[in-house]
Amino acid sequence: MSLAALTEVLKAAEEGNYAVGNFDCFNLEMVKGVLRAAQELESPVIIAYGEPFINHIDMPYFAKAVRCMAEAAEIPVVLHTDHFTNRDNIEKAMDCGFTSVMVDCSDKPYEVNVTNTKKVVELAHKHGISVESELGHVSGLGELFEDDSHVFTDPQTARDFVERTGIDALAVSIGNVHGIYRAEPKLRFDILEEIFLKTGIPLVLHGASGIPDEDIRRAVSLGIRKVNYYTDMCVAAVKRIEAAPGRHLFDLCGTITEECYQTAYKKILVLKRENEQK
Ligand SMILES: [Zn+2]
Repeated sequence: MSLAALTEVLKAAEEGNYAVGNFDCFNLEMVKGVLRAAQELESPVIIAYGEPFINHIDMPYFAKAVRCMAEAAEIPVVLHTDHFTNRDNIEKAMDCGFTSVMVDCSDKPYEVNVTNTKKVVELAHKHGISVESELGHVSGLGELFEDDSHVFTDPQTARDFVERTGIDALAVSIGNVHGIYRAEPKLRFDILEEIFLKTGIPLVLHGASGIPDEDIRRAVSLGIRKVNYYTDMCVAAVKRIEAAPGRHLFDLCGTITEECYQTAYKKILVLKRENEQK
């Protein structure tokens, strides 16, 4: 199966009424663990590379290594950028062999978001690369406010955004945030339902670490087809490493892979169809 475009795996997810797990990885230990979980569960998977990871591992090296690993896998693997804001970086990712890109101008004025996203779509689609973009704004560092409605995705605007940009997947803000939640997340399922009715395209839930499984399942039943995880993998690996100080670096690398495997396995199970549960 190997490398796949985001559109392919999300189309199958739509038909099967399930969602595909997106796991942000910045080293090969993490990628190994995630791919192992996806393979065991015979599930497609998305390996994502965040823009700040550029400072940790060069994008061309990472892309080449993941492409090699994906080609050896027996499941569809999407190589995707996460929250890329810089146009040069997005073009570089396309040149490096990413099969999908996320352009994020959600903190910019609406018209700027439309224009920038549309330009990326025009270029990406020429090369068979999928595009995800965000509307509304998913904030960082676990911030939840008394009233978050100002950053929520507006369903009517979402329809206009999708029509004008031609994107393949839309990241929504419905009470989800990045990082560790500082208060219990309360997703606005009513808004999600309306966004799906108005746009009809695959929707993406960012900041899924910390959202209860039953809420994730409900979101999937209402049109979420891609669910992003990162924090849970990092927290699990750090916890295990801190609990066993003084070990050899070799073992610590193995721990990272093992914890990413365990986390991804649990998450993918939640996202799969009921009748596919093992
Ligand atoms: Zn995100």
